[in-house]
Amino acid sequence: MIELLPPRSPVVLARGAARPSANPRLAEELDALAILAPAHEPDLASLPHGDLLLAEHARRPRRAGATYAVTLPNRRRTRVRVGLLGADAGAFEALTLAGRLAREFAAERPGSVGLATLLPEAQAPGAMDALGAAMLAATQRVPTAAAAPEPPWAPGRIALYGPADPARLAAVEQGAGLVRWLTALPPNVLTPGAYRRAVRTLARRRGWRVREYDERALARAGCGAFLAVSQGSATRDAAIVHVAYRPKRAARGVAPIALVGKGLCFDTGGTNLKPQKSMLGMHTDMAGSAVALGILDALSALDFPRPVDAWLALAENRIGPGAYKPNDVVRAANGTTIEIVHTDAEGRLVLADTLALAARTNPACLIDFATLTGACVSALTERYSGVFTNRPRLREVLESAGAASGERVWGFPAPADFDEELESASADVLQCLSEGKGDHIYAARFLGRFVPAAIPWVHVDLSSAHRTGGLGHVASPLTGFGVRFGTTLLLDCLRQFEAAAGPVRATPPASRPRAPRRSSR
Ligand SMILES: [Zn+2]
Repeated sequence: MIELLPPRSPVVLARGAARPSANPRLAEELDALAILAPAHEPDLASLPHGDLLLAEHARRPRRAGATYAVTLPNRRRTRVRVGLLGADAGAFEALTLAGRLAREFAAERPGSVGLATLLPEAQAPGAMDALGAAMLAATQRVPTAAAAPEPPWAPGRIALYGPADPARLAAVEQGAGLVRWLTALPPNVLTPGAYRRAVRTLARRRGWRVREYDERALARAGCGAFLAVSQGSATRDAAIVHVAYRPKRAARGVAPIALVGKGLCFDTGGTNLKPQKSMLGMHTDMAGSAVALGILDALSALDFPRPVDAWLALAENRIGPGAYKPNDVVRAANGTTIEIVHTDAEGRLVLADTLALAARTNPACLIDFATLTGACVSALTERYSGVFTNRPRLREVLESAGAASGERVWGFPAPADFDEELESASADVLQCLSEGKGDHIYAARFLGRFVPAAIPWVHVDLSSAHRTGGLGHVASPLTGFGVRFGTTLLLDCLRQFEAAAGPVRATPPASRPRAPRRSSR
C-alpha cells in the first residue's frame, strides 16, 4: 500500500561556478535562481541582468528576512528569488529564509534551479548549505495511500554556485528525509515488525550489520523494563534492533559511537490511557529511533571514518489484558528495579534497557534521541530541543553544534538531588513522578542510571520533532529534527566533544536512604 522506505531522490546536485558572476550565461541555463544576499548593498550588479535586480532591490524594504522575486527578460524567463539575510544571522535564520524561497519555488515548479549567495565569505558556506537543504527538503515525497496524490516538485538539477559540499548536503538531507518518511507512516503500516523489515532492507542496501533482540532474546538479557511496555501488544513483534556501520578504512580497536533511539510505533498511553486529542499523532513517537537511523545513514553515505552503532527500541504501548500497570515492579537489564507510576512514561523504560544493552558493548559515547516529555515542550516550545549530559563540560559543545546546524538545542541541569523525589519504597527507583513538573529533568536522571559513569552520555529530548507550520527550512510538521544536529556534532565537533567529554568524574545517583512510603501513592 505504502512503501516502508522513501524512494531515491531523483534530484541531481551539481557544482556550478564558484560565484554566479563567473558565469555570464547562467541565466540562460536556469529556470530559477535562489539567492541569499546581505540586506544592505548586495552586489546584485555582478549577476546577469544585475541592473534589473538592483532596481527591484531599491524598491523593496531592505530589512533582514525580506524576500522578493524578479522575472528576467531572457528566453527562459528565469525567475530570480532573493532573500535578505542580516549580518548577525545564524544557521537557523539562514535555513528559515532558504525555506521560504524553497516553498515559493515548490509552488512554481521550475525544472532547473541555481543556488547562489552574495553574502561575505564567513556567511557564504552556511547560506549555500541552507539553500541546498531547503531545496532538497522541498522536493521530498511524502508517504501516502491516496489514489491520485499531487506529485512532488522534482527539478532535474540543482546547481550550486558557491562554496558548498554537494555530497554532504545530499547525505544529510537523505538522513533527515528518512526520518520524515518513517515518522509520517501510519501506525498500521509501520508496526514494530514492519520497521524491523525496513531496517533489514536498508542495512542490505548500505552494507550494515543488523542484530535483532526479539522478546525472547530480551527476556534472556533481563530487559524487564522494555518488556513491561511491549507485553501489552498482541503482536509480540517488539525488538531492540542493533545496526552496525563499520567503515572500510577504520583503525582497529576504535570503540563505536553508539546512537540510541526511542521507537514507539504507537503510544496509546497504555493502562493510563491518553485522551483522544493527546493520542492523535502518536505514531510519530518513534521519531527518536528514526533520527538515530538517519544519522547513521548520513554518516555511512559520507564514509565516516569511525564505527557507529544505532540501537533502536521498537515497540508499541498498547492497552489489553497483558498491559503493565501502575505500581508494577520490573527489573531492567542492569539489575535496577523500577516501580511503575504512569504507563504513559513508557519511553524511559524502553530506553533504559536499550541504553543498558548498548553500554555492555563499551561504546566511545552514547547519544540517545527520544520524543520523551511534554515538560520539555512546555519549557522550550517546539523551536528548541533539550539536551542533558553526564559530562557538564559537553553542554557548550552541544549548544554550539545546535547553533551551527540550525537545529537548536538547550542544555538542562540534572543534578543528583533530583533523585530524592524518585525514591521508591518497593524498588530501587520510581519510573517518574505522578505530577509532570520538571519531568524532562527527572526522565534524564532516571535514564542516567542505565549508563555507566565511565561512558560519556548525551540525552536529546526531541521537543522539536513535530511542529505545526514546520521549523527552519522544513515546511512539514514532521521536521526530521536531530539529523542536522547529530551529523554536525559528529562531523564538525568530534574533537571538541572528545576534549570536553574526557575523564570527568560523573555524578553518581544520590545515595538512597529508604524513605517511608508516601501515603499519596
Ligand atoms: Zn507515552
